[in-house]
Amino acid sequence: MTEGLRRRTKLVHTGTRRSAYGEMAEAIFLTQGFAYASAEQAEARFVAAGPDEFIYARYGNPTVRMFEDRMAALEGTEDAFATASGMAAVSGALMAMLRAGDHVVSSRALFGSCLYVLEEVLPRFGVEVSFVDGTDLAQWAAAIRPGTRAVFFEAVSNPTLELVDIRAVAELAHARGALVVVDNVFATPLFSDTQALGADVVVYSATKHVDGQGRVLGGVICGSRGFIRKTVEPYLKHTGGALSPFSAWLLFKSLETLELRCMAQAEGAAHLAAALEGDPRLARVLYPHLPSHPQHALARRQMTHGGTVLAFEVRGGKDAAFRFLNALRIATISNNLGDSRSIVTHPATTTHQRLPEATRAVLGISPGLVRYSVGLEDPDDLLDDIRNALAVI
Ligand SMILES: *Cc1c(COP(=O)(O)O)cnc(C)c1O
Repeated sequence: MTEGLRRRTKLVHTGTRRSAYGEMAEAIFLTQGFAYASAEQAEARFVAAGPDEFIYARYGNPTVRMFEDRMAALEGTEDAFATASGMAAVSGALMAMLRAGDHVVSSRALFGSCLYVLEEVLPRFGVEVSFVDGTDLAQWAAAIRPGTRAVFFEAVSNPTLELVDIRAVAELAHARGALVVVDNVFATPLFSDTQALGADVVVYSATKHVDGQGRVLGGVICGSRGFIRKTVEPYLKHTGGALSPFSAWLLFKSLETLELRCMAQAEGAAHLAAALEGDPRLARVLYPHLPSHPQHALARRQMTHGGTVLAFEVRGGKDAAFRFLNALRIATISNNLGDSRSIVTHPATTTHQRLPEATRAVLGISPGLVRYSVGLEDPDDLLDDIRNALAVI
């Protein structure tokens, strides 16, 4: 119904289903199950449920379905499956497609829980995982082999904002018959056309920018209809990672403002990165669209905007970084990102604390490194706040 319309229109209209009451704000179908008009109808639905027929909320729910349809339209994939969290999406997509004996190649710079799934869980079930430096195409080329079933990576890594060249890695993977699974949280569905660049499956933590207001957990797997309904759905509907209808409703309504929020946040992030670069109290400023970013040309090619997160290294190590965090008045110390409120994180002692120090060093997560997720506040207030806090240390 909204096919052919532009993105902002789709974000407001795609997926809407109205009940007999014609409600304006879409309904929250807060129901575990569905009543059948007859035994025959129940039987027919269990044989083959139609597109708007539901059986049990773990299998699907009208509010969840609205969110899935809108996410698929946004990502440009045929279909999508919503999950209880971003990790249910990452682990669900991988577990649904892999079996013992398969080989996976993954970039090493991963969100901690993703690393756990690839390093600890998959090998327990006989899946071999090789890790590469995601920025190095030669390592991808050497690691992908006949029998490689999938490659996995975060298109923009956390917290050092390194990029993987999606098109180049997808070409290497497809030449060997491997599927490309991208965790696209940092680029959001807005800043890169990930499936057009060659991704077969794109997963999101909807907890981040999609909710964007720090309220609920959620996730989504976007892909072809065959992959979503034949591979992902059977696995997820029986293993239980279903999204709550209430959370689905919040996420669905939040999509209406996703583009407005993320564009403002990305403009704020670009403004802060440019203003902070060269500050003598900072050893480096990391932001994909800064000309000094080591992969700046790729970042311009692959992303329309540099994203809503920047990172910078405060001179003086952990002590200075802690004094800086504690002196900020606007940004909140926390570990979410994509929120409407600015959030500041010290990765080495929180999100990446469990990594061995040598691994942190390889990944560039130094003791002075700070991750800053830009919210919807006035960027100049954020800049004043950051500069005041830097003056304190
Ligand atoms: C947050 C995050 C996840 C996990 O999402 P949850 O909703 O917290 O389960 C996975 N990957 C990346 C890159 C993330 O930032």
